[in-house]
Amino acid sequence: MKPNSKNPYEGLHIDTLAVRAAVDKSQYGENSESLYLTSSFTQPDSETAARRFSGEEDGYIYSRFTNPTVASMEKRLALLEGSEACIGTSSGMSAVLLLCMGLLKSGDHVICSRSVFGSTIKLLGSEFAKFGVQTSFVSQTNILEWEQAIRPTTKLFFAETPTNPLTEVCDIRALSLLAESSNALLAVDNCFCTPALQRPISLGADIVVHSGTKYLDGQGRVVAGALCATEQIVKEKFIPVMRSAGMSLSPFNAWVVLKGMETLGIRMKAQSEQAQSFATWLEDHPKVSRVYYPGLKSHPQHDLAMAQQSGLGGAVLSFDIKANSPEDARRKAFTVIDHTELMSVTANLGDVKTIITHPPSTSHGRLTEEQRHNAGIEQNLIRIAVGLEHLEDLKRDLSLGLDAV
Ligand SMILES: *Cc1c(COP(=O)(O)O)cnc(C)c1O
Repeated sequence: MKPNSKNPYEGLHIDTLAVRAAVDKSQYGENSESLYLTSSFTQPDSETAARRFSGEEDGYIYSRFTNPTVASMEKRLALLEGSEACIGTSSGMSAVLLLCMGLLKSGDHVICSRSVFGSTIKLLGSEFAKFGVQTSFVSQTNILEWEQAIRPTTKLFFAETPTNPLTEVCDIRALSLLAESSNALLAVDNCFCTPALQRPISLGADIVVHSGTKYLDGQGRVVAGALCATEQIVKEKFIPVMRSAGMSLSPFNAWVVLKGMETLGIRMKAQSEQAQSFATWLEDHPKVSRVYYPGLKSHPQHDLAMAQQSGLGGAVLSFDIKANSPEDARRKAFTVIDHTELMSVTANLGDVKTIITHPPSTSHGRLTEEQRHNAGIEQNLIRIAVGLEHLEDLKRDLSLGLDAV
């Protein structure tokens, strides 16, 4: 940005902000944002150092607290999400950790969807339970269960939409109204849609949780995370915990995510369109019994998803292979996956490389068969995170697998 313009971002579109928003350039005028790979910052004199340490004056001190490259990434993500402020974290899970440490204390109660990311369920349900924070896990789609779970001590609602791997969608606006009426805050994990498709704060959410590891980086290079919220929440609740607990984002990883966000809009659009075509093709395939994708008319929350996600379904879809028994189902799913040649067999998502996984034996492998059954995840389920390869190559690759069963 030009140094003299007053509010340089006012009125700009999200695509422009994704490319331009950053802290001021250095004296060298670099066009690509600098990577400030330094652990600490020298102070002009002791008086200034004292003022900066006490918070009286802004200024960089130490990279556990703040760093200009991390600040650029935070500024860009805040503007994309439409939030006042953002704080980068070392991973998506450390963003959830910071959220809980900043907002909760012993005796508080959380309401969380039963279908959120598995590590989030573990962190809330097991780790925070050790410190006296109670969590009720409720239906992703039935808001009555959220309402019935409210207690006088409820401080936080936690949602994720669409979910992994079944792409179930919850109504962010309805949840935000319910949270507000019970004096709780609503946090939404926006990892699957990103602000390119869905902006939870504009729908009433208080906090947006990100794993930068997924679509924000977009090319499977680094682990990163962030929380977006009001200036007050970030300053009063999150920054003090960050300074003491140190789940800081490394400047290098922040820089990779910063550059990744420059192409976020076109990637999300292109990958969503590919996923839509792929899902439509799979829905007609004789060996497939069901496809889970919010962009399909057959999806139970299709209308809500289209309204909430800028008319696009996102880049992740799942499907069930036709099978006769659980053993047959697992064998067939493995056969499909192992006969593909192009797709990556790995646990990540959000990459430009298409990824194929068997959720019941990997991401959801730690659940009991009954827990999996209750979550709707059977042995014949396969998840595909669609990348940017040519669609015909992807169809041919999956056909190698489907033809083998
Ligand atoms: C991957 C993921 C996380 C955790 O992010 P990490 O960067 O791996 O710690 C959280 N939520 C969702 C929805 C995810 O997919």
